[in-house]
Amino acid sequence: MNQTELLRDFLQNKMKMSHVYQPLIIRSLLQAAGTATIRQLAQDLLMEDESQLLYYEDRLKNMPLRILTKHGIVERDGDLVSLKTEGLTFKERSELRLLCEGRLSEFLEKRGLSVWDYRLIEASPVGDSLRYEVLKESGGRCSLCRVTEGDARLEVDHIVPRSKGGSNAKENLQVLCDRCNRGKSNRDDTDFR
Ligand SMILES: [Zn+2]
Repeated sequence: MNQTELLRDFLQNKMKMSHVYQPLIIRSLLQAAGTATIRQLAQDLLMEDESQLLYYEDRLKNMPLRILTKHGIVERDGDLVSLKTEGLTFKERSELRLLCEGRLSEFLEKRGLSVWDYRLIEASPVGDSLRYEVLKESGGRCSLCRVTEGDARLEVDHIVPRSKGGSNAKENLQVLCDRCNRGKSNRDDTDFR
């Protein structure tokens, strides 16, 4: 079996999927003519992640777009967002883009990675044995919708978020499926157990 047949056979018969990752990775690599960086693969995954996209769409509509509209910077027509500034020259456009870059890097320098994703902060610190213990005590079910491991991805969630000083103590941990966890905003400290 040559390498192409091996890949075809893997895709058709051997690949056991517990998530969409494997075919997405292979598809990305095929699109990139065979080689991609991990960062590129992650970006491709992100583009396919409907839940992340919905999350950001929601976020955009709620705050920043509302503020930009209020200040007369952008206007919205349903799903379309437009700058109210029209007829910019190439030079003006570059200048304004540089201003954006400047404000961005200034802010990121001050605040660091935490600007982007509280999940990043929350994902790391629960150790494997603690995770196992919390999962075991939950009976392998989401504390909110009671879905089991086979039907959804279960996550160990901080009842009081890490970003608000919540600890890794077992009392502050509960099992949620990925869907409920995303539905629970970071502001919500509800203990669902
Ligand atoms: Zn759930």
